[in-house]
Amino acid sequence: MSKGTPSMGKRQKKTHIKCRRCGSVSFNYHTKTCASCGFGRTKKLRSYNWHKKNS
Ligand SMILES: [Zn+2]
Repeated sequence: MSKGTPSMGKRQKKTHIKCRRCGSVSFNYHTKTCASCGFGRTKKLRSYNWHKKNS
């Protein structure tokens, strides 16, 4: 396994798919949780005070 452009051809596994709730491609296919909004993990939207752009 080498780094760089030749190894990019091995990247075929989909780990993150489009999230049903937030539309971001952050929904983990295996753990069934969204890294962006927390869908599958929490009923509320994932938000943090240190993140300014959340509402
Ligand atoms: Zn989401």
